[in-house]
Amino acid sequence: MAINEQQIQEIVRNVLKEMTAPETGVHKKTSKLHGIFETAEEAIAAAKAAQKEIQPMPLEFREKIISNIRKNTLAMAKEFAELGVQETGMGNVGHKILKHQLVAEKTPGTEDLSTIAWSGDRGLTLTEMGPWGVIGAVCPSTNPTETVICNSIGMIAAGNTVVFAPHPAAKNVSNLAIDMVNRSSIEAGGPDNIATAVEVPTMEVSKTIFGHKDISLLVATGGPGVVTTVLSSGKRAMGAGAGNPPVLVDETARLQKAAEDIINGCTFDNNLPCIAEKEVIAVDTIADELIYHMEQAGSYHASKEEVDRLIKTVFVEKDGKRTLNRKCVGRSAKVLLDMIGVSVGDEIRCIIFEGEKTNPLIWEELMMPILGVVRVKDVDEGIAVAVELEHGNRHSAHMHSTNINNLTKYGKAIDTAIFVKNAPSYAALGFGGEGYATFTICSRTGEGLTSAKNFTKSRRCVMADALCIR
Ligand code: NAD
Repeated sequence: MAINEQQIQEIVRNVLKEMTAPETGVHKKTSKLHGIFETAEEAIAAAKAAQKEIQPMPLEFREKIISNIRKNTLAMAKEFAELGVQETGMGNVGHKILKHQLVAEKTPGTEDLSTIAWSGDRGLTLTEMGPWGVIGAVCPSTNPTETVICNSIGMIAAGNTVVFAPHPAAKNVSNLAIDMVNRSSIEAGGPDNIATAVEVPTMEVSKTIFGHKDISLLVATGGPGVVTTVLSSGKRAMGAGAGNPPVLVDETARLQKAAEDIINGCTFDNNLPCIAEKEVIAVDTIADELIYHMEQAGSYHASKEEVDRLIKTVFVEKDGKRTLNRKCVGRSAKVLLDMIGVSVGDEIRCIIFEGEKTNPLIWEELMMPILGVVRVKDVDEGIAVAVELEHGNRHSAHMHSTNINNLTKYGKAIDTAIFVKNAPSYAALGFGGEGYATFTICSRTGEGLTSAKNFTKSRRCVMADALCIR
């Protein structure tokens, strides 16, 4: 059922009204969202005033605010997931709930900040991680609230406040998450407006944020356009851009597990995560068996004629260029098949087909559960094809193999911020793998999986000829 803008705003208002949350006391009955302003100037000024309060706070106090954000994220995970799907039309409610749980539980806080010390005859010198001040952060439509919450935790842990530029197609649910962050601070006795935004985000609003003298760091999570824009701003900027993660399967892989992992990773939240498997490269000797197991794991094997229809449906011409049809992004396999006149049951989670690397469904980053399989003669050809399909994004790549030499060769050649071996792609986010979670992976600017430490400036603090007690 389609839902219009007015209905979404009504849902957000009702959710807020009903949130009395006696266990936390955070959600007062009000229709005014905390941290949401009419103009960019107001949003920046409010975040600047809040940062003056956050910076001198004991770390323990910042941690209290963060633990409230974690608690309230868990309490609201279902609302955020449902509203996110309703507003954007993309993704899967169950998986979005898991993503919010992951953000709440595995995003690092103040423990991520460390100090380096040199102590000797000439005294004690420390290098500390200090805040930038007010950060401008752009968020995508694909993980809207997950990114707002994840960025808020890391940026506030480091002593910053943040002005968000949420995606216009996800503004209501993003603003609701910003409200939750501020209420979590107020509940702990902290300031309001530690995260702010403008009620109606536009390109003009983003432009003001990017050029404003009171914004000292820009962090963009989104496609190539916005990352290039912030990197050209003249300010210090971090770019978490697009990927097109290839998954390579060689002849030594455990094929049934590989197929199940690939389908689980590819279909998570209808393939919206930038790290998710976007195409498979399979060595010829095992390709047929791998495809069989992918079918068994819930895939529809599309014919050549159906693939041609998918291409016509999934892409549209805009300004003479092939672009994604936004009505297909983040939709389930069943919905996508329905669009080309193929009816399947709920057990179908993915659409697979065999194709050339130049097939647009393989070549382009789709963000939908369509997985092309490219057949190669051996692992070396597979590595070369994977490098080509990753397009130099240096974002994410995955492999299923039990040959350590092949895994090492691929890891070196593909040179990505994320390289998952023998698991679904989401293991990279600490979901079924070790390590912390993030929804901002700065592939373009090299920070990789970001956390509080990346939102700091290095400061050297020197005491000469004293405080060395060796
Ligand atoms: P998008 O690029 O359409 O939008 C991202 C944000 O940038 C939005 O807030 C949008 O309003 C803004 N924006 C876009 N162009 C802009 C411009 N020229 N100036 C100012 N603002 C601009 O992306 P999307 O469709 O929401 O998200 C999907 C894309 O983001 C995919 O390419 C995906 O790989 C990438 N992504 C990357 C990461 C990562 O961590 N590397 C995480 C999530 C998404």
